[in-house]
Amino acid sequence: MQLKTQLTLPHVGLTGFETPLSEEEGAIQASVHRFAREVLRPLGAELDKMSADDVVALGSPYYSVFTEFAKLGLSPELLAELPPEMAVRVESLIGEELGWGDAGLGVSLGAAGFPLQMATATGNRELIDLCTGKIGCWVITQPDKGSDVQVFDMAREWVPGQPGNKGNLWAQVRGDDIVINGQCSAWVSNGAVAQVALCYMSADYGNGFFEPDGRPNGLSVIVPLDLPGVARGRPLDKIGQRALPQGEIYFDNVRVPKRYAVALQDEYYGNMASTWSYAGTHMSQVFTGVARAAFEVALQYCHERKQGGRLLIDHQLTRFRLGDMLRRVELSRATARRSLAFARLSPSSHPYATASAKVTVTEEAMHVAGEALQLFGGAGTSREYPIEKLVRDARAALIEDGENRVLTMRLGLLAQQLYAEGWAQQ
Ligand SMILES: Cc1cc2nc3c(=O)[nH]c(=O)nc-3n(C[C@H](O)[C@H](O)[C@H](O)COP(=O)(O)OP(=O)(O)OC[C@H]3O[C@@H](n4cnc5c(N)ncnc54)[C@H](O)[C@@H]3O)c2cc1C
Repeated sequence: MQLKTQLTLPHVGLTGFETPLSEEEGAIQASVHRFAREVLRPLGAELDKMSADDVVALGSPYYSVFTEFAKLGLSPELLAELPPEMAVRVESLIGEELGWGDAGLGVSLGAAGFPLQMATATGNRELIDLCTGKIGCWVITQPDKGSDVQVFDMAREWVPGQPGNKGNLWAQVRGDDIVINGQCSAWVSNGAVAQVALCYMSADYGNGFFEPDGRPNGLSVIVPLDLPGVARGRPLDKIGQRALPQGEIYFDNVRVPKRYAVALQDEYYGNMASTWSYAGTHMSQVFTGVARAAFEVALQYCHERKQGGRLLIDHQLTRFRLGDMLRRVELSRATARRSLAFARLSPSSHPYATASAKVTVTEEAMHVAGEALQLFGGAGTSREYPIEKLVRDARAALIEDGENRVLTMRLGLLAQQLYAEGWAQQ
């Protein structure tokens, strides 16, 4: 027991009721917070008001986010040098500050690094050079293949006897070449601006597109997006995360050397699971930051607005509502960190497990942002205040990186699969 002789307020930091950060952790957090406050917040607010076309136009302020972020010196090597438990906490601190600054830009920065992260994980020098300094994206969903990209278990999750969903993007592997045709969905983050893509698609290795149980064969490959045959759709106009440029990418007989592949044949689904787990952990940190931002603006407003003869903060009901929001921010952070630690440190992570944390965090972020808007009263609906943007940003996250109902259903499927292997039966 920690014995106190005086009643003091608890130790609290930017990230709430946090055990003390080391000097290095504190310094990283402070510098990313400054970047979030001075660059992401104003830039995100400016881009939010622009049309989707203007956000991606040449000379748009959007592109400055990459040069400004690079100045922080937060390379993947920095995390690799830290002890594993500390690396998890630092990664979480960084992701939360990015989300606190602007969710759309936080996601854009994360997605931009996906191809390089994958190239680094493979250790392939040519691919690392291909991706370094480029804006990346992760191409996996397609117009007719959204939630279906998450189907792994044909026996439990698909119609018996029917082939799986081949989707609208596929590869043919012939000799030393991969030929790609089709298109990705309009939702691909950074799709409208990316220079390189980490692509997942159905594949024919010479024996058709399907495994004997009907599951589509797959292929994952890094594709430079300046190759002949690559074209773009118009950038997506949407309700939230408007600073994040989304859009379709079309592939017309795009020829890529087979050595750009990061997973072929039997390695496909395992590789895909790694990328998806990686994406899910980033989402959880970012939307913890969104929940915290919504809580903070509500806390401030309650210290400014008077009703019933007193400041809102002096009403018991309002304190309850703020307490409930703070509790949910803490819940989000704890869940986000635990899932990040599991994804990075467990010998065998799984995307349905990481995705479940994304569900919890984004549901909480939506709840907190909605309650914060409610605390603003009519002012909450005005574009003059920052809260309506946070609500719109959080709303998109309930679908982003997997729709939340379907993800929860798949957590149940995971429980069924684990139970069949003996889990929870002792
Ligand atoms: C902000 C944002 C960013 C995104 N970024 C990317 C990205 O970087 N890369 C990328 O490839 N994609 C990206 N996406 C796409 C995202 O992953 C998909 O939108 C998501 O997986 C859902 O797919 P869908 O939109 O096709 O919906 P659908 O799969 O068509 O789902 C529609 C509805 O049907 C329900 N449903 C679906 N399947 C089932 C089932 N088997 N049983 C019962 N109900 C079902 C769902 O619950 C949902 O309510 C992004 C999306 C958003 C919104």
